[in-house]
Amino acid sequence: MRKLIVTIFVILNLPTFGQTGTIDGTVIDKTDSSNLAGLPIVIVGTRTGVITNNEGYFKLSNLQPGTYDLAFQFIGLGEDTVRNVNVVANEVTTLNLGLPIGDCSGNKPKNCPIDGSTSEVIPIIYGLPGNKLMKKAERGKVRLGGCIVTGCDPQWYCERHNHKY
Ligand SMILES: [Zn+2]
Repeated sequence: MRKLIVTIFVILNLPTFGQTGTIDGTVIDKTDSSNLAGLPIVIVGTRTGVITNNEGYFKLSNLQPGTYDLAFQFIGLGEDTVRNVNVVANEVTTLNLGLPIGDCSGNKPKNCPIDGSTSEVIPIIYGLPGNKLMKKAERGKVRLGGCIVTGCDPQWYCERHNHKY
């Protein structure tokens, strides 16, 4: 009986240890809609990376909850980055990516292109929102962008003019 109780205790406690999340998805070549196989994907600022398989599928597991930038390295085509991908503990964030991105890579300036101000500009966060992020979104601190990301997606939302860029 004691053994059983100990076992149950351990099982109940398992999810609280090292809660991590996963990013997965598929990458296609936008020019001909074929799967991009053998494409290196690296989490910016880390040594964590993965290579897409023959179906263009990739999976990055054991990620601490938070937001990440993913760099895609094309042989002969340079590099592109998908920014602000959200990771939630015990969840899978699925991204369906169309590449290459062309000249959409790089950080976009926060300034609203209409009047140049930043006072009502909030970041757009992509991927599955966790509780914390949902609350932030409810308070208007961030805007949720969904799970389909091309890398050309807007990074900022201007509340004054109700537009994304
Ligand atoms: Zn604006």
